[in-house]
Amino acid sequence: MSTELTFKQYQDGLANDVFWGLLCDDCGSYTTPPQKVCRSCGSTALQVVELEKSGFIRTFTVIRVAAEGMNPPFVVALVETASGAWVMGNVINIDPNEAGMELIGRKVTLSSRPVKGDIYACGDIHSLCFTLL
Ligand SMILES: [Zn+2]
Repeated sequence: MSTELTFKQYQDGLANDVFWGLLCDDCGSYTTPPQKVCRSCGSTALQVVELEKSGFIRTFTVIRVAAEGMNPPFVVALVETASGAWVMGNVINIDPNEAGMELIGRKVTLSSRPVKGDIYACGDIHSLCFTLL
């Protein structure tokens, strides 16, 4: 596979439940969504890899004040996959008003959903999201 991952390739993957990331040859960290350099060390020696479709919630927050066009409250989580990639998205099958510390460590599956772009976006996109198991 190529060593470069474009935003379009990343989006096409999300639309088909394929989760692409970049694995750094120099430090072993993952970068996703795609960037030109490793987000940990700045290296450009990156391989495109497919990420697992599940992981564990490591931290989260409940968004109660959001940008125009969004519909708060909603839960945003950081999830660590088995390979060590960290990904961010919304937890979609929980009442945000019921979210508590028991979410930390819960297993989730990765998926995506189409979201309406706001006035600052380049149009509608797919957004990574998580489902509690
Ligand atoms: Zn690196």
